[in-house]
Amino acid sequence: MRSKKPVLERQIFTPAEQRAAKAERVKVSEAEPYGWIAESQSSRELYILYASPYTKRLVCTCADFIYRGKDDPDYECKHVTAVLKFIGRWYLQHHYDPLQQVCGNN
Ligand SMILES: [Zn+2]
Repeated sequence: MRSKKPVLERQIFTPAEQRAAKAERVKVSEAEPYGWIAESQSSRELYILYASPYTKRLVCTCADFIYRGKDDPDYECKHVTAVLKFIGRWYLQHHYDPLQQVCGNN
């Protein structure tokens, strides 16, 4: 009697999904006088992030961002992902006003 082995569905994550998972292990705090500090829990390395006044996007100082960001302006390293979540929570707590929501207008 032949038994059919169950086919295990392999979970394949895109690089962006893998970075999103890693971003969960990045600790974020505010930097002085501006910007943010992202601390990778696994490697215990600190990176400084700031918002570019030209692109209105976050810029990270890690090697990943510097090299991959050169070819892809939409590239977000795990530190950028983590800081975006940090800013999002802060915004909801301190600034969000449903009557002033204008995100869809730009
Ligand atoms: Zn980074």
